[in-house]
Amino acid sequence: MFCMDPSNTTLLYVLIALSFVFGVMAVIPIGGADMPVVISLLNSYSGLAACAAGFAINNNILIVAGSLVGATGIILTNIMCKAMNRSLANVLFSGFGAVKTSLAKVEGEVKPITPDDAYYILEAASSVVVVPGYGMAVAQAQHVVKELQELLENNGAEVSYAIHPVAGRMPGHMNVLLAEADVPYDLLIEMEDINPRMEMMDVAIVIGANDVVNPAAREMEDSPIYGMPIINVDYAKTVFVLKRSMAAGFAGVDNPLFFGENTRMLFGDAKESIGALVREFSS
Ligand code: NDP
Repeated sequence: MFCMDPSNTTLLYVLIALSFVFGVMAVIPIGGADMPVVISLLNSYSGLAACAAGFAINNNILIVAGSLVGATGIILTNIMCKAMNRSLANVLFSGFGAVKTSLAKVEGEVKPITPDDAYYILEAASSVVVVPGYGMAVAQAQHVVKELQELLENNGAEVSYAIHPVAGRMPGHMNVLLAEADVPYDLLIEMEDINPRMEMMDVAIVIGANDVVNPAAREMEDSPIYGMPIINVDYAKTVFVLKRSMAAGFAGVDNPLFFGENTRMLFGDAKESIGALVREFSS
């Protein structure tokens, strides 16, 4: 109608206001670990909008660039949905009308550990899996992690890295960080390949990861992350969790892993904690 009568700008303003309300209403029910999927989808929409603008003003560059952004955004959205074992419709609409139930409080005994005690357990381990997450990126701990890997290997242990598809804050985040530290690519094992081997692991070292190792996704039906595939670190014989506090991760949900029988919390900045382990090994 605005195109037919461009002098009537009221319609345009009404449309802008409605679009604004629609945009806010569409994303407001989406939370927790679904947020990155929606961000990626919105990115894709921005490409489609640019493409449409390209057609409107007859600009080939806008059409091509917009199509590329639109297509890659939707491919990425699809990859993330698959990684979280959800359909896009479920991500977008499952929050509508959902009544917030009070989540079962995760409680139990937390067992902190010091770097020197952690060293004795690592020294005796013959298989170690490192599970990096967002905290490793924050601490920039990848280089010390590589040092620890070499010390463990020299000590006779087999070391691998378990990579969750949505660990960190962008797809491939962990791969990029570990590549920066020259970690050999064949040591990086994807979630579905490492999970069946987890029970054989002597030690799992969780470095600044939280949501991607949260057993609530497997066990607690009322959890916002229920159904998301996780790395089953809790099946390893011993789990070290390196983080600064008991704070929740990106999805904002409690993590029963921290209270596990076989879990030991190594509190502190990941780079400093790994550095302390490296010093123990070196001395
Ligand atoms: P999380 O965000 O769940 O947890 C990160 C943990 O790192 C926190 O619990 C924090 O605990 C700890 N941490 C932060 N800084 C440090 C530090 N300096 N040293 C040690 N620990 C630290 O990370 P995950 O990688 O497990 O999960 C990624 C989450 O991000 C998922 O929910 C995913 O859906 C979401 N996401 C992923 C995107 C992607 O494309 N990969 C994009 C956007 C979001 P503490 O504060 O106690 O130290």
